[in-house]
Amino acid sequence: MSRRVVDVLVPVALDRAYSYRVPKTLQLAPGDIVSVPLGAREATAVVWAENPKPNPRLDNRLKDVEEKLELPPLRPELRNFVDWVANYTIASRGMVLRMCLRMGEHLGEERERVGVRLVGPAPQRMTAARQRVLSLLADKMLRSKGEAAREAGVSAGVIDGLIDEGTLETLVLPPEAVAEPPDPDFAQPDLTADQSAAAAELKAIAGGSYSVTLLDGVTGSGKTEVYFEAVADTIRSRRQSLILMPEIALTARFLDRFAARFGVHPAEWHSELSPRRRARTWRAVADGEVSVVVGARSALFLPYADLGLIVVDEEHDAAYKQEDGVRYHARDMAVVRGHIAHIPVVLSSATPSLETEVNVRRGRYRRLVLPERFGGQRMPSVEAIDLRRERPPPGRFIAPTLAGAVQTAIERGEQALFFLNRRGYAPLTLCRACGFRFSCPSCDAWLVDHRFRRQLVCHHCGFAMPHPVECPNCQAANSFAAIGPGVERLEEEVRALFPQARILVLSSDLVATMERLREELDDVAAGRFDIVIGTQLVAKGHHFPKLNLVGIVDADLGLNNGDPRAAERTFQLLHQVVGRAGRDAGIGRGYLQTHQPEHPVMRALIAQDREAFYDAEIAARESAHYPPFGRLASLVVSGPDKHDTQIFARLFARSAPQHDDVRVLGPADAPLSLVRGRHRLRLLVKAPRAFDLSAYLRDWLAAAPKAKGSIKLDIDVDPQSFL
Ligand SMILES: [Zn+2]
Ligand SMILES: [Zn+2]
Repeated sequence: MSRRVVDVLVPVALDRAYSYRVPKTLQLAPGDIVSVPLGAREATAVVWAENPKPNPRLDNRLKDVEEKLELPPLRPELRNFVDWVANYTIASRGMVLRMCLRMGEHLGEERERVGVRLVGPAPQRMTAARQRVLSLLADKMLRSKGEAAREAGVSAGVIDGLIDEGTLETLVLPPEAVAEPPDPDFAQPDLTADQSAAAAELKAIAGGSYSVTLLDGVTGSGKTEVYFEAVADTIRSRRQSLILMPEIALTARFLDRFAARFGVHPAEWHSELSPRRRARTWRAVADGEVSVVVGARSALFLPYADLGLIVVDEEHDAAYKQEDGVRYHARDMAVVRGHIAHIPVVLSSATPSLETEVNVRRGRYRRLVLPERFGGQRMPSVEAIDLRRERPPPGRFIAPTLAGAVQTAIERGEQALFFLNRRGYAPLTLCRACGFRFSCPSCDAWLVDHRFRRQLVCHHCGFAMPHPVECPNCQAANSFAAIGPGVERLEEEVRALFPQARILVLSSDLVATMERLREELDDVAAGRFDIVIGTQLVAKGHHFPKLNLVGIVDADLGLNNGDPRAAERTFQLLHQVVGRAGRDAGIGRGYLQTHQPEHPVMRALIAQDREAFYDAEIAARESAHYPPFGRLASLVVSGPDKHDTQIFARLFARSAPQHDDVRVLGPADAPLSLVRGRHRLRLLVKAPRAFDLSAYLRDWLAAAPKAKGSIKLDIDVDPQSFL
């Protein structure tokens, strides 16, 4: 009699599941996590389906499932999600599964945690440090050695000394919990009437089946407090909540807000967790021990025991798109997971993505509006500075009007923010003698001058070189000119304009550690700086009570880059930055330095007419059949040899299936035609909205010549990047 056979999906770059025989001693069901032989090695994999009719010719060649691992099985909901995401994004199912299986193997035994407790008499010799430890531990509570040292502000040696003298005793602590259970009634929220109304509606949704709700409110209107009420209800019904964040590195303050409402920090999931912490978190999520996860987009692929709610904070943020490996958009896939799991999804934003706005207008998503700023504050007034009429002095970037406004603000004891979304000193360095421009040897990009690091740096591949002494082309010495501003150059100008001011530059490449960044943000909030100069690092999530003035140094930056979402992105970013002003005092002002004050983005920001911007942008997208009124897929062919890459790209393009509704554009040199030594050619596929683009692409791939050797084909369905 032939043995039972199951199809097993292995987390490698393969789309199909492999058949394995089930030893009689094993009880297996779909979803079980198993170990199987794969080539010469063992792989952790998942039983995907029964195989009632295995190919009899293969029967003797099939290998056995090695063992069943002692882990909770992947639920049908997650397995369906894996299949769906793989099908939609044209990624292999194995690679999508890999995102679900980050349970951390082979980590070895966990290090024992040692706790200390006050038991004995005071030590013979008393010091100030020892005294601090004794008063801390006077509550007789058990603390880990690390905690005790940190909380008392002493070195580990001080603790060890007290143990040696018998003042403290040591005990082995149980492993630290991933997260303590949050208490939905820890703190009663203090909500405005608008917030209460929205919270009541969300709570009604929270217990229900699949739905998508846009929580729509200006910066500072208190959206977080409102969706916390839906989270609280989900905790009460003993189900799990996932809160997705675009940039987990900047969420320290969010975790504190969570703790203020629920008494404890939530579980976190992001790339900076240690392997052991990831493993423990994965397990606790799968076991249902964790009730709230706050995470980056990859948290969407965790094996929740009973997921009951997904919140996508700042749903419009471009960081939700994963740009390598499996190219997926976490907001869109969150909606898919909600649909498959029959649970509600909440999207939160002050500037919804156009996709979401259109879905709301068409009635597919519902909208809950929070109309006012918390405490009834007005949004900042916004004014354009027309750079065609009012030019900054040569080599300078701040117009006199903006400089004057900042001067007035700091004289009043308020803070000002200069926003420039460009790291480094200058985006281009050229030789005044011969015109030579410094570019990256392996990318089609200028080298950015970073004076703080004393280097010229490529922002695409990380190539860096020291500042040159002479021109490599004409050997002229000291002939270099910095072209255009970065935040470091702006800092020079600001220091010259406001010599008395306390100035801080915030830029991701200048941040030593997340801890340091948090301290700096606290310093700004406490008013220890008069002027902040920042990149988009300052756009998100911070609350600066004394900040009343925001100056956008180059509002046009990012508008003219050929990206169909350029206007939307610029509007969202500038709206968010300007919204930093006046959140407490309600007298915020924003200045936009622009060469095109008549542009719909600038007009909407000045008039504070968001609807006008959406109306215009929706009409423009609709007439161009751009998303969400049409579908796009981007295919990038890349290789080290330009000629070979071009030949393959043309062959590949010629094999595209003919279809009346589909247009295949290209191949053409990508805007970034060389990255890390690879030449890049792009094809863009345009199709109507309801068209099954994924099926079309699969047909194409099946018929197309295969990319061989060093030539690579990258497919991006619903691309966000057009570089
Ligand atoms: Zn030169
Ligand atoms: Zn480069």
